[in-house]
Amino acid sequence: MKTEYKSIDTDVAIIGAGPVGLFAVFELGLLDIKAAVIDVLPKPGGQCAELYPEKPIYDIPGLPVVTGADLTTNLIAQIKPFAPEFVLGQSAVSFAPTPAGFWNITTDTGTVVRARTVMLATGGGLFTPKKLPQPVAITYENTSLFYAVRSRAAFAGKRVVVAGGGDSAIDWAIDLVEHGVDVTLTHRRDEFRAAPARVAHMRDLVAAGKMQLAIGQIAGLNGLAPQLTSITLSVGTGIDAITQDIPTDALLVFYGLTMNAPPLTGLNLILENGLVPVDTENFATKTPGVYAIGDICTYPGKLKLILSGFHEGALAAQAIFKYMYPDRKLRFQYTTTASDLHRKLGV
Ligand SMILES: Cc1cc2nc3c(=O)[nH]c(=O)nc-3n(C[C@H](O)[C@H](O)[C@H](O)COP(=O)(O)OP(=O)(O)OC[C@H]3O[C@@H](n4cnc5c(N)ncnc54)[C@H](O)[C@@H]3O)c2cc1C
Repeated sequence: MKTEYKSIDTDVAIIGAGPVGLFAVFELGLLDIKAAVIDVLPKPGGQCAELYPEKPIYDIPGLPVVTGADLTTNLIAQIKPFAPEFVLGQSAVSFAPTPAGFWNITTDTGTVVRARTVMLATGGGLFTPKKLPQPVAITYENTSLFYAVRSRAAFAGKRVVVAGGGDSAIDWAIDLVEHGVDVTLTHRRDEFRAAPARVAHMRDLVAAGKMQLAIGQIAGLNGLAPQLTSITLSVGTGIDAITQDIPTDALLVFYGLTMNAPPLTGLNLILENGLVPVDTENFATKTPGVYAIGDICTYPGKLKLILSGFHEGALAAQAIFKYMYPDRKLRFQYTTTASDLHRKLGV
C-alpha cells in the first residue's frame, strides 16, 4: 500500500488500522462518509496482524474460527468499496483544530490529514520497534541505523546488515537481496521464528552465495556518527567468544515491537488510566469532533474485544453523520434489503 501522501482531505481521520479502525471505514462508508486511516505499522490489522496472525479467534460473530491474519484480510476486502486512504508507516503525532471546524492531524513524517472529525482507534497503543540497547545507537538512527524500511531505494548500492530472526528480518533480507542489495543477515542463534518457507528461501540464498549469514550478538557499532562503517558481532559464549567486524553502510534492526501509549497531543482529552472516556450513546469524547472506539476507549462495562469495537464503530459512524450534517435526516437501513446500500457496495 502506498504511503507517499503529503496532504489529504477527508471526512474522518481514523487513527489506527486495527480491526476496529478498519471496520469503522465500512460503517462510515455506508453513510457516504470518507475516511483516511493512519497507522504507524506498514500494514493494516493492528494486534491481530502483528501479535497473533496465525492464532485462531473463536468469538467473531458468524465466523466459528478465523486467524488474526484472515480476519484482517476479510476486513480489508469488506472496506474495499469505500476506498479509504491508507497512511501507513506513519504515526499521528499532533492534532490541531482549525477555525473552520476541521482537524489537522500531522504525522511524524510530515503528512497532514485535514478531516472534519477524528476517530481514535489506537487500541493498545502505538506499535514501536524494540531498539538496540547500546546508548550510542541513537547517534546513528535514521542515517545509517533503521528500525523500519520507508524506502527500499535508500539501500541501493549499500552494504546492509539486517538483524533479527522473525518475519520482518527474513522478509526484508530476502527482498533487498532480490533487489540487488549486498545483505548480511545476522541473528543471535541459528534458529529463526519466521515462516518456515521464508526461512528455507533465505537458506537457499545463503547457500547460493547471494546473502551472507552471520550468527552472533551485536556487541558494537563503529563509525563516526551518524555514519556506521561496521558492526561488531560477538560470536560464541564464555571464554570461547570471539568478535567479528562486518563492514556496514546501513544496519536494519528488526527485534520486534512493543506497544506504548500514543501521545495524542492537542486533543485535550482527560484520560482514565491511559484510556479515553466516551459516551456510550455516540462514542464521542469530551472534545467536540473527536470519537474513540475499540481498546483505547473506556466506559462502564467496557470489554476489550473485537466484537465490542465493531459495535462502537457503528454507533460512532452514526454520531459522526449527525455531527457533520445536523440538518439531514439519518435513515436506518439494512444492508440486506437497501438497494441504495447495494449500490455503494457495488453488489
Ligand atoms: C494474543 C491476543 C489474543 C487475542 N484474542 C482475542 C480474541 O480471541 N477475541 C477478541 O475479540 N479479542 C482478542 N484479542 C484482543 C483484540 O486483539 C483487541 O481487542 C483488538 O485488536 C483491538 O482492536 P483495535 O483496532 O481497537 O486496536 P489495535 O488492534 O491495538 O490496533 C490499534 C492500531 O493503532 C495504531 N496506532 C496507535 N496509535 C497510533 C498513532 N498515534 N499513530 C498511528 N497509529 C497508531 C497501532 O499501531 C495499531 O496498529 C487478543 C489480543 C491478543 C494480544
